[in-house]
Amino acid sequence: MPEVFAVVGAGHCAGQAAASLRQQGFAGDIVIIGEEPHVPYQRPPLSKKFLIGELPLERVYLRPPKFYRDNNIELLLDTRVVALRRREHEIVLADGRRRHYDKLLLATGSSPRRLQVTGVDLPGICYLRTIADAQRIQPHLRAEKNLVVIGGGYIGLEVSAVAAQRRMRVTLLEVDGRILNRVAAPVISDFFVQLHRQHGVDIRCNARVLRFEGSERVTGVICEDGRIEADLVVIGIGIAPNTELAQSAGLPCGNGIIVDEYCQTADAAIFAAGDCSNHPNPLLQRRLRLESVHNAVEQGKTAAANMCAKGQRYAEIPWFWSDQYDVKLQIVGLAAGYDQLVQRGRMEEGGFALFYLKDGVLIAVDAINNPREYMACKKLIPQRLRIAPERLADPTVAMQDMA
Ligand code: NAP
Repeated sequence: MPEVFAVVGAGHCAGQAAASLRQQGFAGDIVIIGEEPHVPYQRPPLSKKFLIGELPLERVYLRPPKFYRDNNIELLLDTRVVALRRREHEIVLADGRRRHYDKLLLATGSSPRRLQVTGVDLPGICYLRTIADAQRIQPHLRAEKNLVVIGGGYIGLEVSAVAAQRRMRVTLLEVDGRILNRVAAPVISDFFVQLHRQHGVDIRCNARVLRFEGSERVTGVICEDGRIEADLVVIGIGIAPNTELAQSAGLPCGNGIIVDEYCQTADAAIFAAGDCSNHPNPLLQRRLRLESVHNAVEQGKTAAANMCAKGQRYAEIPWFWSDQYDVKLQIVGLAAGYDQLVQRGRMEEGGFALFYLKDGVLIAVDAINNPREYMACKKLIPQRLRIAPERLADPTVAMQDMA
């Protein structure tokens, strides 16, 4: 009997891992089991080009369905996994069927945090995580209609940008004192507030939603300081890792499924990768859980290599990006814990970069319409360099001379 490697979840990480297993030379059976009806796809376009209707569904897919046939990768879609029987090496499906595995990758991803207020189940109130979610929102992005966005993170800001470009009246409510509070410095928050205001988006911070109004459909959002008219509401208040399967199978979890630097869980036959994994990063010298495409792809590759016993360590500096209007924000590193900020360039000159330093060491950058600084920092940040702030701030000093 050929060996069976199973992947639970059919997102970006799962798709990458299955492809990487074949690249690693694994010749046994591969099965991907996913709850959604789609082959593995990319999520970033769902709040950008796919939402605005500039990208067809086929281009959202990571690889065409033919790829899986050609590579003998079985796709078990529209299928929910309800339990793992670790001793028997079995996956239990919702209809009671069982599937054997020799090695298993949990790429179960994450789910939107739910807002717990009265009226939240009214039609017209949406979350955005899946293709189906985006398709539910799309027909309601209509000029002169009122959109209320709840949450000033990437989902909230990107959806607001799309809707403003569709000439909707957009109000964004952020519970915190500023948008992007968790991930960026106030300079960046202020920049995006200004950018959105220029496009007519009304951003309100310290705004708590009390309840929704409407009978057949949402018509209003009630906040502490009054009512806002709403034809559509999109909620993006963060995500939580999908750890239920791992947890009920007795695998250690805590803000994600606990894995080592090889993406291996406490069970040697089970790996976890992507949004759902809590992993150590030797370059950052700490454990973390990341919500990013880069992490999904790279951990997918690492997990696949180690399922093939290649002994490959995961050590990557995270990077992210966001597109809003004609602005591209690119981020390398994690800013948490910074004690100094240095700005290079100005928006009026076309773009700028904000460097985050800790004890004099460059730990992260936010580059706005500034791909050169971003690319340079991808090389500089892993080196944990001490760079004089005056040099970083001086646009006449070339980035390649910083090291
Ligand atoms: P997020 O980035 O965690 O942002 C959620 C925001 O909502 C935070 O600012 C949060 O404030 C705020 N919030 C929390 N509870 C709220 C409430 N009751 N009312 C109003 N605001 C509230 O999460 P997200 O925007 O939902 O995105 C989900 C995931 O998709 C994230 O992992 C995100 O990184 C990812 N994503 C990434 C991109 C990109 O990289 N371009 C684009 C889209 C989505 P606090 O911080 O104070 O809790």
